Amino acid sequence: MTHYAFRDHRLFTVPDPGGDTLLFGADDASLFTVDETTRAVIQRWRERSAIDLADVPEADREVLQALRDARLLVPQEHRRPPRRAPYDPARIPLGTLVLEAAQACNLRCTYCFAGGGSYGGAARLMDPGLARRAARYLVESSGERQHVTLVLFGGEPLLNLAAIEAAVVEAEDAAREHGKTVTVSMTTNGTRFTPEVLAFLRAHPISLSVSIDGPPELNDANRRFAGSGRGTYEAIVAGLAELREHLPRPPAGRVTLTPEQWHLIPEVFDHVAAMGFLEVGIAPVSPMNAKMLPTPEQERVLLDGFARIAERFVQKAAEGELLRFSNLLDVLARLHVGQVKDVACGAGLGYLAIDSEGRFYLCHRMAGMDHFRVGDLEHGIDHAGIAERLAEQAAPRQDACSKCWARSLCAGGCHHDNHIREHDLGQNPGGMCDFIRGWFEICIRAYAQLRRSADERILAFLAQRAQG
Ligand code: SF4
Ligand code: SF4
Repeated sequence: MTHYAFRDHRLFTVPDPGGDTLLFGADDASLFTVDETTRAVIQRWRERSAIDLADVPEADREVLQALRDARLLVPQEHRRPPRRAPYDPARIPLGTLVLEAAQACNLRCTYCFAGGGSYGGAARLMDPGLARRAARYLVESSGERQHVTLVLFGGEPLLNLAAIEAAVVEAEDAAREHGKTVTVSMTTNGTRFTPEVLAFLRAHPISLSVSIDGPPELNDANRRFAGSGRGTYEAIVAGLAELREHLPRPPAGRVTLTPEQWHLIPEVFDHVAAMGFLEVGIAPVSPMNAKMLPTPEQERVLLDGFARIAERFVQKAAEGELLRFSNLLDVLARLHVGQVKDVACGAGLGYLAIDSEGRFYLCHRMAGMDHFRVGDLEHGIDHAGIAERLAEQAAPRQDACSKCWARSLCAGGCHHDNHIREHDLGQNPGGMCDFIRGWFEICIRAYAQLRRSADERILAFLAQRAQG
């Protein structure tokens, strides 16, 4: 006789019209809409650890059988999937390399996680020869992968045009020689689009992401030039005009906001979206010191701001219009194809950063942090070191994550944020979890509404986005 139990799940109600209940599968990110009768049956039986269908009253049994057919009710012993062994970094070829081409910056943003671009120590630029070797190393360490990604990063990468040009040309050559393809992306502060830079960007297809934090008073509160201390808004607007004139494809916009700015999130989104960006992502600032840690009330304000943009997204989607809010698009795309995260991100697992001295780090945010240094260009990648660092990161949250309904969407959060909060600021693990879960809940509700009302083209866009 088989005893059944519900797989781990969470029920959400969706706002009118419809007032549906959603059932979200915690292990596989599956999403079902359930009617009132089914919801009532689930609520009656969901806490039982062993359900014998033969003992269930007939009216409920039919519903439970349907839930069993949908694999929501499973034999008791399969209720929790077995814990996966950690990935072996040595078996995952390199796919993305972030080049810290300029550990220097012409700005001094108040919230900079990179210590004004240099990641500690003196400002310095990567030698073009090193940039070239790093780009080739990426292609030649990519195993069976057909495609690699080179990310030009800093500081401000455009302070070192010689190195980024060398790296891009070498990556293109190496990819051609090995029958692979390469994508190049760059994050820039948008103040360095000189004629030479524009000529370089015209010659090479590079996906650009330009940082701007909203209207002048908000942007200039935190993003200022080094030296003069002037705000950067005007310079960024001028740079965007140059890009429009010289490049066919607009850049993405990247916004960072500090907690006291979070109440203005929808207005900031509107302002930046109206500047013609391909899409706009908004990041709550990563707290680098205790003063930057948000209060619970500020986190509620942040979620409220995101929820308001999500509502508008759904309304526009019903009219066939796509609101290009990257944060939401990323999660909706994953929900649409049921993409499950079993690691928080690719750091150390096919994704590495290299600094201006040729040292590898787990991720770009950890450049300059000795603890997260994992080899160098001369001696190769320290896979054992990566495995140790990742295990250390996972250990304090393993238990909580394994019981969390959002685990298939989150898988533990940003390693850098977790490290700063827990190691440097002495916070307990899990300090961001309410925010993370609140955000995923907003996305799940938005997705359910989208399924009901969105234009097919928008769903097709999400499917394509999920493929990368
Ligand atoms: S532009 Fe980037 S690297 Fe430069 S100071 Fe601002 S946050 Fe730091
Ligand atoms: S929200 Fe917190 S507990 Fe849940 S998976 Fe993410 S880090 Fe783990």
